[in-house]
Amino acid sequence: MTSATEITRYIKAEALRLGFSVCGIAEATPVAQETAEAFEHWIATGKHGTMSYLERNRDKRFDPTNLLPGCRSIICVAMNYYPAHAKEKKQQLHIARYAQGSDYHKVVKDRLYMLLKSINNVCETKGRPFCDTAPILERYWATRAGIGWIGKNRQLIVPRAGTHFFLGELLLDINLEYDTPIEGNRCGKCSACIENCPTGALSAGDFDARKCLSYLTIEYRGELPDSIGAKMGDCFYGCDRCQICCPHNNFATATTIEDFKASEDLLAMTDDNWKNLTEEQYNTLFKESAVERCGYEQLKRNIKSIANR
Ligand code: SF4
Ligand code: SF4
Repeated sequence: MTSATEITRYIKAEALRLGFSVCGIAEATPVAQETAEAFEHWIATGKHGTMSYLERNRDKRFDPTNLLPGCRSIICVAMNYYPAHAKEKKQQLHIARYAQGSDYHKVVKDRLYMLLKSINNVCETKGRPFCDTAPILERYWATRAGIGWIGKNRQLIVPRAGTHFFLGELLLDINLEYDTPIEGNRCGKCSACIENCPTGALSAGDFDARKCLSYLTIEYRGELPDSIGAKMGDCFYGCDRCQICCPHNNFATATTIEDFKASEDLLAMTDDNWKNLTEEQYNTLFKESAVERCGYEQLKRNIKSIANR
């Protein structure tokens, strides 16, 4: 297989075979100046809170060729995690949808390694896979690769499929055929996510992570403000509200990826179970889960915030 057209077709077919819902390809170039400037402004205004890692590696973040020498192409993929039970209207304590299965960093990256291996069966190329594991503007590249657009909720919206997707990238040092980028957002007059955000973290064209419940319950290590418990609803790890209200999620279908399905033990947890969670239970429930990042004490902190509201 030698032509860029043939290899491109092969890569996209292989990506679907490996469980990715969509796959698009962008030419690896420095990011658009306005995108870099918007990121710089966001950091300069402190809206990233304590996520100081976002301040580092600007050279790589703004130019993916600094992540892989000779990088020519960025394969962007998205993997569906929409839970089968998402439409059940149960009011009980729970964690955000994305965290209910196995750790997505590993699941997506492992499949990207499989994709790279498969590509190397038909052509020689060097590659590096990422899934939220490197300084790379994932949603920007996904729009460049034509697999979606960034909504006012700051999520990537995959046309006719919604927002419940993990994003991954495979950088390659070969030329491929590139997809047409999706420019701008297609929210139109809708502002449901801004109206439904309980903390005012979203506004037209802006996002203040310091106010966001996902940031506060996952990334932020300090004491939670007293007022937060009342805003958390029933979700004590992350927050799904700006996704739940998005009309594009009317098209969402349940994930077929076994790794992303919640365990029976997790689904069986009651409010009382959560309020009395022991460290041993935490370790069993969240073994190989992204929730491990938060740690037992921090999860208890979050649950206490809801319990004390
Ligand atoms: S995750 Fe929740 S708090 Fe954060 S922007 Fe969305 S609705 Fe607001
Ligand atoms: S809820 Fe409406 S405004 Fe927000 S991302 Fe979805 S379509 Fe856009």
